[in-house]
Amino acid sequence: MLLATHYMTTKNYEAVIGMEIHAELATKTKMFCSCLNAPFESEPNANTCPLCMGMPGTLPVINTQAVEWTVDLGYDLGSTVAEFTKWDRKNYYYPDLPKGYQISQYDLPLLEGGAIEFKDSTGEVKRIELTRVHLEEDTGKLVHAADNQSSLVDYNRAGVPLLELVTEPVIHDAETAKKFCQTYQFILQRRGIARASMEKGEMRCEANISVRPVGSKEFGTKVEVKNLNSFRVVERAIKYEIERQIEALENGEELVQETRGWDEVKQKTFSQRKKETAADYRYFPEPDLPPVTPSSLWDLATKARDVRPMPHAEAAEIVSQYGLAQDVAEMFTSDLDAYGFWTELVTELAEPTDQQKEQLKIAASTYVNNDAVRVLNTPQQVELAGLVALGTISKSQIREVVTAVVEKGLEPAEVVETLGLKQMSDESAIEQLVDEVLGENADAVEKIKGGDNKAIGFLVGQVMRKAQGKANPGVVNKILKEKLE
Ligand code: ADP
Ligand code: MG
Ligand code: ZN
Repeated sequence: MLLATHYMTTKNYEAVIGMEIHAELATKTKMFCSCLNAPFESEPNANTCPLCMGMPGTLPVINTQAVEWTVDLGYDLGSTVAEFTKWDRKNYYYPDLPKGYQISQYDLPLLEGGAIEFKDSTGEVKRIELTRVHLEEDTGKLVHAADNQSSLVDYNRAGVPLLELVTEPVIHDAETAKKFCQTYQFILQRRGIARASMEKGEMRCEANISVRPVGSKEFGTKVEVKNLNSFRVVERAIKYEIERQIEALENGEELVQETRGWDEVKQKTFSQRKKETAADYRYFPEPDLPPVTPSSLWDLATKARDVRPMPHAEAAEIVSQYGLAQDVAEMFTSDLDAYGFWTELVTELAEPTDQQKEQLKIAASTYVNNDAVRVLNTPQQVELAGLVALGTISKSQIREVVTAVVEKGLEPAEVVETLGLKQMSDESAIEQLVDEVLGENADAVEKIKGGDNKAIGFLVGQVMRKAQGKANPGVVNKILKEKLE
């Protein structure tokens, strides 16, 4: 078996990994024409025009939204935004590329440098330096017929704005590579500039991997692994490839620079082709497009002020500003839906009072601890969490409300009203029920006085029963304890 390489042997090598990630921008229209940017939603070839079909005589026009979003992203990443950037033709032939070249950026990318940071599993902040981020256009899609005798081509995706990010070769293990990809996805999604679904191919990761003896300064021969279509596969393929390369070197074999794919069935990488070099593409400046000078198009000082912190730093801000637990803050800054819930919850609450902080904690836990809540849309989630935080309904009623919102098409507050779910928080009403229960359960009271605190839970349950589950459990507990002392 290939992975039989001994632990001690593995220890003698260091892996070197650089990531290349393509992400489609979610602009309304394509990169160089006014066709809709909607590669999934329509009939094949519905969103096409002579330009993105590669007809001669057409002239591209730059989508400034795509350029502006890239600049915005650049500030988040701490990159240097180019003062002057141009477009280049990358020439190659494939049926999904009707022009016979891709418009890309070769020597003058829009963004250079910068970094992405995240916490590793030990809680330490890792910083991965970026080489560059540039803009280009996506290709169409080939659809192979089941009989393998023919292929169809769909140009809806041809010309969709595509961001390519390239890291420095500074990653040394598969888990870090995966976490890097996840963090980048969230950074894109948080800005609303890309949907970046790996499953749909809106974000596509490639890993460049080499190994070298520990202590060596020289890089080994690198292999590029493509088609990593989930975060899990990013991690698995890199692990596999590192082991494969070490074993090859141990066996005295020479590694070749090549492109490999990932075989999901065999859980192995496999050779696809020997790597082409930049010279093969015969890059040259795109003669039909003007250069781009961001500082003449936008007020970059304003963009610099709008910079978003790295997710781990945003989590730290949430902890200090709102008093949330670290793990809850981390959830809100790693998942787009959770982030949407949290940001909507705290709009207009920049400086919460202590009481508001307590309520925010309850509202946050309503989202975090109840999967059912996630089926609601963000305003509904916020409304429901608010009802729980204010004690209008109890935690045990969350599922019932969610079900009714979905089934009856009502908003959470309407459900509470219509179904009469409102909690009993009125202390005197609850006190009356507590007195009744204490009177009816003298034996339990005796046990508690004798030190058996388990019986308290029984009494709480009895009060809740009398209240048909609607008494505020916090108030019930408080009154019971006062009476028993
Ligand atoms: P290419 O011209 O083959 O695309 P680049 O130098 O542009 O190669 O690098 C592409 C990616 O490969 C970058 O992410 C870079 O960090 C990474 N990389 C470069 N050399 C190595 C290496 N020896 N091992 C692992 N990754 C590497
Ligand atoms: Mg490359
Ligand atoms: Zn078009």
